[in-house]
Amino acid sequence: MTQLEKASELANLDANKLELLRTPDRTIQLKVPVKMDDGSVKVFDGYRVQYNNVLGPYKGGLRFAPAVDIHEVKALAFWMMVKCAVIDIPMGGGKGGVTVNTKELSEGEIERLTKSLTRGLAPFIGSKIDVPAPDVYTNAQIMEWIVDEYAKVTGKEDLGVVTGKPLTRGGSKGRDRATAMGGFYILQDIVADKYQDKEIRVAIQGFGNAGSVMADLCNAEGYKIVAVSDSKGAIYDANGLDLEKVKQAKASLGSVTQTDGYDTLTNEELLEVECDILVPAALENQITSDNAPSIKAQYIIELANGPTTPKADEQLSSMGITVIPDVLANAGGVTVSYFEWKQNIEDKYWEEDQVFAHLKPKMIDAYRAVIERSKQLNTDYRTASFVIAIERITSQINLENI
Ligand code: NAD
Repeated sequence: MTQLEKASELANLDANKLELLRTPDRTIQLKVPVKMDDGSVKVFDGYRVQYNNVLGPYKGGLRFAPAVDIHEVKALAFWMMVKCAVIDIPMGGGKGGVTVNTKELSEGEIERLTKSLTRGLAPFIGSKIDVPAPDVYTNAQIMEWIVDEYAKVTGKEDLGVVTGKPLTRGGSKGRDRATAMGGFYILQDIVADKYQDKEIRVAIQGFGNAGSVMADLCNAEGYKIVAVSDSKGAIYDANGLDLEKVKQAKASLGSVTQTDGYDTLTNEELLEVECDILVPAALENQITSDNAPSIKAQYIIELANGPTTPKADEQLSSMGITVIPDVLANAGGVTVSYFEWKQNIEDKYWEEDQVFAHLKPKMIDAYRAVIERSKQLNTDYRTASFVIAIERITSQINLENI
């Protein structure tokens, strides 16, 4: 809401239209009963928040995690609305989840939980209504179970009811690399603009889906990866890491910190290493008012959601460090989810190079629009992204219909 207020003051947005964006369209709270392996019945809390659909069907992940509550889901749904509007895809904002620790459940229990949730959500989702996707502790298999159960309940197969499906069941090629690829296109644009004759040094926090693919892309382009990390810690070499060695250590020994021959650092120290570009690709709230003053990178590309606190954001801005905000930098993921939905609706499937050929101009156009708007309003890229998103959404709201 603070971000919304800031954007609305700067861009002079219509107060009545803004009033409509302060609360979600619909908040669904569900009972999710599950037959456990021991024959007992357990009831979990499920949620789906449909924030806004003026640009298209609600879109956003479903997470299965112990911390899920209505406040978290609401905030994430709002964020999805902004992300879809910034990247300019015809989708609205939604998010959902179940309060559960999946590590305590068997595979069969997770399947029954997913199907129970789907039965509860079935009247509210569908390819033209609301399209969930994987998020924290949900995956392609879980999306396939949703497609199956939704077909059972409604009597029709609707592959576009969720995205992030397995390739064998209507998933899109390139989805697994899309988030990093989207951020990488922006990185390449920055390099072309600012660093043409210089060796680029990149530090990446997090070595999962987003971070490890980003590392691969940077390595293939010849940029020097000076530091990477995972939950166990970080490794650093000012001369650049041998990424193949790092990947081998991660695959065989479970952590990048097990790679031979490098200095180890903490995850906090990784953020402060000498580099040109810092890529947070792990958790939220990593760059705070405590460590922001020690950051040496000139650019921060937020592949993670919410890695920078608002206070740190202001400090970075006054230090002249450019932050490419999460709603833009990691929007490649939702963009390829939209492509998946489109392929399902049209029943025409794309090759991976086609997917990326569509993704690149979406990312670059959005990035350029954000730069332009930030110059006009003399503000940072995050606020400019919010302004663009809110303007796009409010331009489609007709107050006569209320
Ligand atoms: P992932 O689970 O595949 O990887 C997370 C990585 O972070 C792992 O390497 C893990 O070891 C590391 N990690 C965990 N705790 C850490 C800590 N305390 N310090 C440093 N590293 C730690 O997740 P992902 O899909 O790569 O997502 C990473 C971030 O990117 C999240 O914020 C997610 O919301 C965001 N994101 C991902 C996608 C996507 O398509 N995967 C899309 C949009 C945003």
